[in-house]
Amino acid sequence: MAKKKGIDSCVFCGRSRDEVDLLISAENASICSDCAQVAYDAAREILHPELCTIQTGGKVSGEFTLRKPREMYDFMCQYVIGQDEAKKTLAVAVYNHYKRINNPDDDLLEKSNILMVGPTGTGKTLLARTIAKMLNVPFALVDATVLTEAGYVGEDVESILTRLLQDADYDVKKAEKGIVFIDEIDKIARKSDNPSITRDVSGEGVQQALLKIIEGSIVNVPPQGGRKHPEQRMIAVNTNNILFICGGAFEGIERNVAQRLNTKVIGYDAQKKREGINRDDMMMYVAPQDLRAYGLIPEIIGRLPVIAHLNALDRNALRSILTEPKNSLVKQYVTLFKLDGINLKITDEVLDFIVDKAIEFKLGARGLRTICEIIMLDAMYEAPTNNAKTFTVNLDYARKKVESSNLLTQA
Ligand code: ADP
Repeated sequence: MAKKKGIDSCVFCGRSRDEVDLLISAENASICSDCAQVAYDAAREILHPELCTIQTGGKVSGEFTLRKPREMYDFMCQYVIGQDEAKKTLAVAVYNHYKRINNPDDDLLEKSNILMVGPTGTGKTLLARTIAKMLNVPFALVDATVLTEAGYVGEDVESILTRLLQDADYDVKKAEKGIVFIDEIDKIARKSDNPSITRDVSGEGVQQALLKIIEGSIVNVPPQGGRKHPEQRMIAVNTNNILFICGGAFEGIERNVAQRLNTKVIGYDAQKKREGINRDDMMMYVAPQDLRAYGLIPEIIGRLPVIAHLNALDRNALRSILTEPKNSLVKQYVTLFKLDGINLKITDEVLDFIVDKAIEFKLGARGLRTICEIIMLDAMYEAPTNNAKTFTVNLDYARKKVESSNLLTQA
């Protein structure tokens, strides 16, 4: 005999008794243990903020450390070269985000997720990852292009939260204060300005699905990922305090920016202003209107009010990336050799050569590692067995390795 649905399923998430660990029933309604926990946590944060673990002001507490914006900037500088404006924007946005979490009773403060705009390989993912490392919060990296609307081939947007839960070792409370980086958000832009008759499964549909998660709601997440199916047990995750950082190269958006500036910049020095702005600089002017013209839906843009711009990396930046970050490529190779008791030396000429090749083959910062691996492979193979205490990589050696590799010539 069919039971009365009201009493036999959770009034909050709608799951039935056999889909949850525990269903607590009163006379006319029931609540599952997951939703009861979420409700308890929310009440505790509001009624007893002093008992919550996060504190501002650089204090380390319980699970994670919140630093002041200036300290965050300095931390980012240890790992990320250049991108000063983006670092500052992120530092302030992240600080405000966690201040908001810390003051849940202050409903003036709205959730501000972040959009990073800049060419590929300029440090967007690295910045997001560095912030998560700095705060010691769970981090999930997802590619927007694999996401589809529920019911279509691809990953449901809820899978984003599965990854976050996995990174938090399924500690839901921890995951609920984590950071999600959604890469290639520009690739799910609506294909044309006119919504078409056929459904835009990979574009607008996904943006709508993402919106639900980004704006903050309780989402039922399949713990092991994959498709949702009725018999699978779900974990309820409140996304209200999860910081979403989206990133995209937005190739071609400079045309929208130029168009907007051209129509706006009128007056006696308009021509001068237009001439003064080149293509790369245009990216620094990307504004919500341009994102809309590019194909992001207004609701998503509204949920990403903080825009950080990243610059293309020039030769000097690429050269610095090789040696300066705390875990730079050169420092990593030196450490690997030191573990075998070998003193590795890489000459300055070789470092310049690596940068030249990265530029020549248009590989950017990502290519630096590929080129280093090509140069270092034989050395890492031979050095541990040939008893030498020092190994020097000079220009001649590096050039030969690169010339004999067909990887680069095919690039
Ligand atoms: P994006 O997300 O912008 O496409 P990534 O952050 O994934 O680029 O960068 C790819 C790799 O290039 C990083 O793992 C890092 O090694 C290097 N890199 C890129 N930009 C920077 C930077 N500004 N400072 C230091 N390393 C960088």
